[in-house]
Amino acid sequence: MTGYRLLACLGLPLLLGAGAAAPDLVLPVACKLGRNCAIQNYVDRDPSPAASDFRCGSRTYDKHSGIDFRLVSMAEQRRGVAVLAAADGKVLRVRDGVADISVREAGKAGIANMECGNGLVIGHAGGLETQYCHMAKGSIAVKPGQAVKAGAPIGKVGLSGNTEYPHLHFTVRLNGKVVEPFAVGAQPGRCDGGRSLWSPSAGLAGAYKAGEVLNAGFSTGPMTMPAVQENGSDQPRPTRSAPALVAFVQAIGLKGRDVQKLVLTAPDGSVLAENRAAPLDRDKAQWLSFTGKKRRGAAWPAGRYQAHYTVLRGGKAVIDRRFDLLLK
Ligand SMILES: [Zn+2]
Repeated sequence: MTGYRLLACLGLPLLLGAGAAAPDLVLPVACKLGRNCAIQNYVDRDPSPAASDFRCGSRTYDKHSGIDFRLVSMAEQRRGVAVLAAADGKVLRVRDGVADISVREAGKAGIANMECGNGLVIGHAGGLETQYCHMAKGSIAVKPGQAVKAGAPIGKVGLSGNTEYPHLHFTVRLNGKVVEPFAVGAQPGRCDGGRSLWSPSAGLAGAYKAGEVLNAGFSTGPMTMPAVQENGSDQPRPTRSAPALVAFVQAIGLKGRDVQKLVLTAPDGSVLAENRAAPLDRDKAQWLSFTGKKRRGAAWPAGRYQAHYTVLRGGKAVIDRRFDLLLK
């Protein structure tokens, strides 16, 4: 066992170079995973044109260099979610002034050499550097040379640079090289090992999901991806007189051949509607499923309507989510 491995085993700070310890990292965004944000992508650890995350999964894409903390909706971004310094350090570089526009509108040429959008780099002890991208225009609250403390607000999540949805792209470098903060030092090609740079307080142990639900809820009509990207699970809420009753799920991290099923059950236990989709033809960074029914009678029967969404991968459930709606 090498000295480095021994230290990692003992849970001591990672010692680098001449004894300077790289600090542990706190969560760099003021959101709650599973509630108003999720990790959309990890670092691509595959040097080939293929892509593989630190668990040998597909929660990444070719050459992706950081962790993407995605807010559940544009509405959440407009409410303002703070970006936080991941550790004590000194601000090295800052860029602000890039418009908060989806790259779908701005075009790749419009953000050339500004892929990070509004962002900054912080230098820490032990050769560690953290970079924060796609922040909101005008939100950056620190200047080059400024000392910052772990957890200090440094700006807000935005939609600047090369992004289609509001998220913080967070890159960690050790001695100038990009590392996967969940698995520093993991052997190439291995699906485990390495040391997490996250402090226990970051709450990221067990954060990795093979696939997950970003938004789920009910609406009064067919759902569209723009509507769910805009307002997340907060859609027109059905009442007993709603013209239709629709259950929807926006899932992320799905893989080719995943089999999704969404079943909506009436208060009496009968199946009101179901969506049994064909297996996915390829990996999907995000996918919207919905199912529902138009109202026939004068009103929907009162009671609890239940939705059950499952994703099977190789016959095994990777997502199993139930949610319900009470109509009075
Ligand atoms: Zn990213």
